[in-house]
Amino acid sequence: MQTGKPRAALLASPGMGHLIPVLELGKRLLSHHGINITVFVVTGDASLSQSQLRKVSEAAYDLLDVVLLSPVDVSGQIDKTTSILTQIAMMVHEALPSLQSAILATEVPPIALVVDMFATEAFSVAEELMMLKYVFITSNAWFLALTVHAPNLDNEVDQGDHINNQRPLLIPGCESVRFLDCFEQFLRQNEVYFRMGTEISTADGILVNTFHELEPQTLAALNGTRKLGLVPNAPVYPIGPLVRPVQPDLRSDALSWLGMQPTGSVMYVSFGSGGTLSAEQTTELAWGLEKSQQRFIWVVRPPVENDSAATVLKRNSSCTDFPDYLPEGFLNRTSKYGLVVPMWAPQAEILSHPSIGGFLSHCGWNSSLESILNSVPMIVWPLYAEQKMNATVLAKHIGVAIRSELLPSQGVIGRSEIEAMVRKIMVDKEGEAIRAKATMLKSCAEKALSKGGSSYNALANVAKDFEIRMQSQNAKAD
Ligand code: UDP
Repeated sequence: MQTGKPRAALLASPGMGHLIPVLELGKRLLSHHGINITVFVVTGDASLSQSQLRKVSEAAYDLLDVVLLSPVDVSGQIDKTTSILTQIAMMVHEALPSLQSAILATEVPPIALVVDMFATEAFSVAEELMMLKYVFITSNAWFLALTVHAPNLDNEVDQGDHINNQRPLLIPGCESVRFLDCFEQFLRQNEVYFRMGTEISTADGILVNTFHELEPQTLAALNGTRKLGLVPNAPVYPIGPLVRPVQPDLRSDALSWLGMQPTGSVMYVSFGSGGTLSAEQTTELAWGLEKSQQRFIWVVRPPVENDSAATVLKRNSSCTDFPDYLPEGFLNRTSKYGLVVPMWAPQAEILSHPSIGGFLSHCGWNSSLESILNSVPMIVWPLYAEQKMNATVLAKHIGVAIRSELLPSQGVIGRSEIEAMVRKIMVDKEGEAIRAKATMLKSCAEKALSKGGSSYNALANVAKDFEIRMQSQNAKAD
């Protein structure tokens, strides 16, 4: 029997983009709503240690009980064509027995299992252990709408029309999805993705890392579909934006350099934890930044041809040499106004620095939310996963970003266009409305998260459901 406040188990699938928001969710459930939390982490990396996990978020780590499940190895089951989504789902599948044992071994059995969106197969463990089952979508509501709607679509008529005839995909009550923007796993008709959509709809509740003011129409549609008897058959709770917290005492060369630049003068350029560009695109980007004459910090990776997600799931990728794949003389010519950082930079701290005025981003959803919370307008440069949908949410639905008409997957974006986009976001009059929108959204986001705000209240409702379940279990046990 549980006494006091209920305990919930959270499950994070492999990848920083999942672990970071799951830890933040755990932190908020505990510190704002008193729910005790155990976080289970799936990994395929046998060398990943508790101390490395701790580095992801010390604050979350100190508060929460974090359990690293035994590493899983799916290398024998995959080949070059296996998508990242399928690989993650396979790893979650392999981790299910150790998850079940680990939950059974907890001193106080958790009342609910909250899994991130790639780990819905773990609902079977929740069912077996009679726990509530929740899913946490670490992306936006529009992507959730596509995902839960996908299994409902008629294979031949709707999917065929979108995939073969490239017509926009209609989702009840939401903006339709352009063929060019559609999630790549939908277009490939990956059955793992469609299964996730079906499983998400069986949850007791769906948490989304967004907030009401960001996606009002989509959220209304998602909660309204229930009345029409359509999926998702569960309440949708916008509880974001939850992002990695800034470490105030962190020191790095990039932060020291930023400290010497004027307010709002620096464009930060990064393609997330896994994004890579081709050699030609890397050259064009270098020239575009140089020609713009705007200050920049660029997190640069060695070019890779035809694989924009080349470093996803490769935690150990490293490159400490100064890059020789940049145009000759680039580092010298830009040394007075640019800083090139190999592989990885402290992004949360950089984006919150007052010297940052723009972000050229692959628009992974965590990066997008970090930008919004710091009122930084963006140039969106989607590479893989659901990023093309994120780019449209940011540039078209919300108006906090600009983008090239040419998607990076369609060809090389040229230096003159890059130069123009950088200048538009940083200094040109044309970018004023976008900069103003970014400032406005930051205050909406902060309000949503503060006590009594929409996201705060949504998470309070989830916590209430956990308490009700605990009380009814206790009543049965009496
Ligand atoms: N990140 C970072 N430094 C880097 C690149 C990424 O700290 O050089 C962090 C970033 O702040 C974000 C996460 O890694 O919290 C990336 O998540 P996102 O959803 O944006 O993209 P993904 O990497 O999952 O594609």
